Amino acid sequence: MLGHEVLGRGHNRREASGDPTAHAEVLAIREAARRVGGWRLEGTRLYVTCEPCLMCMGAIYLSRIPVVVYGSADPKAGACGSTYDVPRDGRLPHHVEVVAGVREAECRELLEGFFRNVRGQGVVQQVRGSGLESSLAWKNNNDGRRDGRVVEGD
Ligand SMILES: [Zn+2]
Repeated sequence: MLGHEVLGRGHNRREASGDPTAHAEVLAIREAARRVGGWRLEGTRLYVTCEPCLMCMGAIYLSRIPVVVYGSADPKAGACGSTYDVPRDGRLPHHVEVVAGVREAECRELLEGFFRNVRGQGVVQQVRGSGLESSLAWKNNNDGRRDGRVVEGD
């Protein structure tokens, strides 16, 4: 596929699916891998509204995505410099370039809207105090969706 075609999209479906690994990045990566017919997503970029967590950074490395672009940092669970800095660790065999802070204000606003919405529905109460509340912030739209996508790069 050529140009800037979107290969995969995802939004956080952890609550909806009951799958703890159903983060936007993972779902977008799975769809992209299906579309390209293989696990190597070299030459792609992952755009995501918020800083990927450790699991998603693992998936990004395993799929060989070379560039991650995200909007808002996640100071509690982010693995691109906030809690961990996986891309700068240096022990992994290939390099992932991270571009942070793209449309950060807009992403943060979406996150705050999500939190208001979730509290109104009582979903956060189930996990409050367990350390998982911050992970809920990964869903970032008012309707509880968090968008992520993989597009072909240069
Ligand atoms: Zn994640």
